[in-house]
Amino acid sequence: MSAKVIDGKAVSERVREGVRQEVDHWVAAGNPAPGLATVLLGDDPASEVYVRNKRKACEAARMRSIHHELAADTGQDEVAALIEKLNADAEVTGILLQLPVPPQIDGDEMTALIDPLKDVDGLTPINAGLLSQGREALVACTPSGVMELLREAGVELKGAEAVVVGRSKLVGKPVVQLLLAEDATVTTAHSRTRDLAEVCRRADVLVAAVGVPRLVNADMVKPGAVVIDVGINRVEEGLVGDVDFHGVKEKAAAITPVPGGVGPMTIAMLLANTMKAARLQAAIR
Ligand code: NAP
Repeated sequence: MSAKVIDGKAVSERVREGVRQEVDHWVAAGNPAPGLATVLLGDDPASEVYVRNKRKACEAARMRSIHHELAADTGQDEVAALIEKLNADAEVTGILLQLPVPPQIDGDEMTALIDPLKDVDGLTPINAGLLSQGREALVACTPSGVMELLREAGVELKGAEAVVVGRSKLVGKPVVQLLLAEDATVTTAHSRTRDLAEVCRRADVLVAAVGVPRLVNADMVKPGAVVIDVGINRVEEGLVGDVDFHGVKEKAAAITPVPGGVGPMTIAMLLANTMKAARLQAAIR
């Protein structure tokens, strides 16, 4: 049996179109278009591309894009002052501090300064805490994208055995919380897990967010499992995920490709979060 390939590009386009329509209705009802502020420190080429794509997507959704670029040697006080200024600016709905930041800056400390209602990356301790308590929160974009793909693929999560490989703040941990919120029975695996293959074989739903090319192979997958590959790894042949796509495809019921799976969902969910932030802020004004 060959798995159904979950088309992240198509799902992300649907989400983006939905957000665009929501923005149109929001503006037609007399509200200002949501504004996303991006903050980029230094000139890391990959970060420049990510930020450019986020800004373009924002404009395509008819939101305003407000961009701040700071030199690689900017001090922490200056970054903190900019975040405080954006927190206070009513024109700014969402704030995105592009990570990673240069070494003299503490990314966690700067992220924590972002107003939780403008935290469209869902990475402040307040939003991470709300998520872990199962309360309304702005949720990290890639994990929300994983859940959207599972929903679109019609995967039954209630009572399912889910295994998440990876426990980062950015991906693994929020995915675990989101799966728990859907009543899955969740196991978190990481670099110290003793028998990774055995743990993975339990999974009806297997999410790999590791950063090791093709770590998850067909022997580690239960027949009929749904496999979501968050990994983006650059190898000689191009981009590959954390899952051996060709091998696992013959065993799984559904699988995301790399590229074209989880990747395109991240920006789509960023736009959805910016629209959600606009609503949350309007509700308390
Ligand atoms: P990370 O912060 O480096 O975390 C990696 C996690 O994988 C850690 O928890 C680590 O365990 C675990 N790990 C590492 N080697 C392992 C092994 N051999 N066996 C089992 N677990 C292992 O990475 P991340 O930010 O979560 O990103 C993970 C992957 O997703 C990367 O490829 C990244 O490029 C990709 N990513 C994609 C998107 C997207 O938009 N699609 C967004 C973000 C990230 P320990 O905690 O024990 O060290």
